[in-house]
Amino acid sequence: MTNTVVGDEKPWHPVARLPEDWQAWLKTQGEAPFRASQVFRWIHRQGELSPAAMTNLGLPLRERLVSDGLGPPGVVVDVKRAQDGTRKLLVEFAHGARVECVLIPMTPKTAEDTDYLVDSEGELEEEEQEESRTKVTLCISTQYGCAMGCVFCASGQFGLQRGLGAHEVVFQVLLAKRYLEPGEVLSNLVFMGMGEPLHHYDQTARAVRLITHPEGLAMSARRLTVSTVGLPNGIQKLGEDFAGKVGLAVSLHAPDDETRSRIIPMNQRYPVAKLLSALRAYPLPRRRRITIEYTLIAGINDSPAHAERLADLLRGLRVKVNLIPMNPIEASELQAPVDSVVARFRETLADRGYSCFVRTTRGDDVLAACGQLALQGEPVRLRRGKSDGV
Ligand code: SAH
Repeated sequence: MTNTVVGDEKPWHPVARLPEDWQAWLKTQGEAPFRASQVFRWIHRQGELSPAAMTNLGLPLRERLVSDGLGPPGVVVDVKRAQDGTRKLLVEFAHGARVECVLIPMTPKTAEDTDYLVDSEGELEEEEQEESRTKVTLCISTQYGCAMGCVFCASGQFGLQRGLGAHEVVFQVLLAKRYLEPGEVLSNLVFMGMGEPLHHYDQTARAVRLITHPEGLAMSARRLTVSTVGLPNGIQKLGEDFAGKVGLAVSLHAPDDETRSRIIPMNQRYPVAKLLSALRAYPLPRRRRITIEYTLIAGINDSPAHAERLADLLRGLRVKVNLIPMNPIEASELQAPVDSVVARFRETLADRGYSCFVRTTRGDDVLAACGQLALQGEPVRLRRGKSDGV
């Protein structure tokens, strides 16, 4: 296994090329520039990755696309459907990299449960209010394993195997669209699967550009949420590159350095104060809020004093807090608190004026909780020391 990012080197993989990259490539092939749009649309609008099916292109061009490497970068190796309609795809990429993506339908009944995934408050446009189709939120992965080492997280304990290229990230969206059921529409995308999206920022940013491109999937950036362990430089770049339009979720999980460093090794490099400054500087559009994720772990970060400190820490920031009772993982003895502790923590924050939700597990009968499926049967490795390049 290597630790390198596939696709980091230019030129981009064909599935990660924007129309302007296609134009440059087509020029080298002696083809007309208007073909760029055609190829890009086949891939990102139709979800067609086999050049043979691109019938409006000449045969010689289709053959050159094949020899250039255009084709599906991964395959679905398993699909599980939970009783609540959640579908979990296990996708295998080159070199045995297996990641998961999860489709989560948001029926009116479950809308409240899934509020943690998206921040749609005050955002609905008229046409959307009339939309009768079931909105589906898709959760995608950005790395196989993860270098951040969070002690309560299966991917963190597995360690980073390799980052995914932008083509592999966008491919998860193209694939997932094929698994939508009649009456469903892909509405939101959360980068909350395996991996740290801001660790390989360039790949994540390229994936966002592809997914939001008007000639492709054309998802609006505000329907995308990037969840991060809290890398301040990455948060700053994301804010600058997309003018704050991409939603931000931050895995805070503790209100002070002492507690946070115990469960998130990255906190030693980027302590809470640095993270908070990055959040304050994020160019949040009006009516949007940053999502603060807080995984509750029994005896570690779940006391009323922690809740009070959290309330103090977040004062003045436009946030909503999502509490996640920890899902038990094989690699750790840590556990979720009992329900009454979770409820008290939530009430403390609510009493201090925060909007605060407890995340109910969706699709748990198919192991849709945090990294469980892709890592099933994988040996638990000792996590590497400090990751580099962050
Ligand atoms: N690297 C990103 C995405 C990680 S997964 C980040 O840190 O945000 C998305 C969320 O699930 C994170 O908040 C993560 O801390 C949380 N998580 C991971 N393992 C968990 C577990 N076993 N129980 C509860 N939440 C977990």
